[in-house]
Amino acid sequence: MIRSPLLEAVPGSIHGFGTRVEWVPPPPPELSQPAQLAPTLEALGAPGARVAMLNQIHGAQVLRADPAGPLWPVGPGDALVCTVPGVVVYVRVADCTPILLVGPRGVAAVHAGWRGTAAGVLQAAVERLLDWSGQRPEDLRAAVGPSAGPCCYEVGPEVVEGLARHAPLELFLHERPGRRPTVDVAAVNLHVLHTLGIQAERLPHCTVCDPGFHSWRRDGALAGRQAAFVGLWP
Ligand SMILES: [Zn+2]
Repeated sequence: MIRSPLLEAVPGSIHGFGTRVEWVPPPPPELSQPAQLAPTLEALGAPGARVAMLNQIHGAQVLRADPAGPLWPVGPGDALVCTVPGVVVYVRVADCTPILLVGPRGVAAVHAGWRGTAAGVLQAAVERLLDWSGQRPEDLRAAVGPSAGPCCYEVGPEVVEGLARHAPLELFLHERPGRRPTVDVAAVNLHVLHTLGIQAERLPHCTVCDPGFHSWRRDGALAGRQAAFVGLWP
């Protein structure tokens, strides 16, 4: 489990970016929170927490985890906000960028692959989190977790075009003579956070070339997933 020093400094919260070591549940449909999550919750410092998850669809839909409603999954979407202490929310990734947002009155977990990033999932998540929690941008801290890095993430022109809606090319595009360009999706999301006035940091590691992570690009259809968890924890 990897932690962000910036998020760790927010009292009353827990978070962690998983690696391939932590067990991650299969995608929905599932009936209820699996018992195998218990050791991960212990490692997070939130033993016995209720956990909420999404049916991820690579879009920009933001949902809210309400303990009175269904949590497993909350529904189809790619960002999950929670304003209630005692509930941990998470997103599953393998090369897509996980982003965690933490404030004293609300948190969010965001699944931002290139499609979600191009669709503005992070901006949508920040807007809903601020709205639903009554917080201001300066109340929030954010961390952009491990994902496919510019060392490995070769893309076509549609990806460059989609990302260019949100950040200047020189921030994310890595061109190489005679080869397809690579992009830095995490850099785009970090730029979005800074533009929104949110203190944010980026964690190292490329999920493709670091064997400590699951990678869709490296392992194809057999790839597992890692999860990024966040919650208010009294
Ligand atoms: Zn790499």
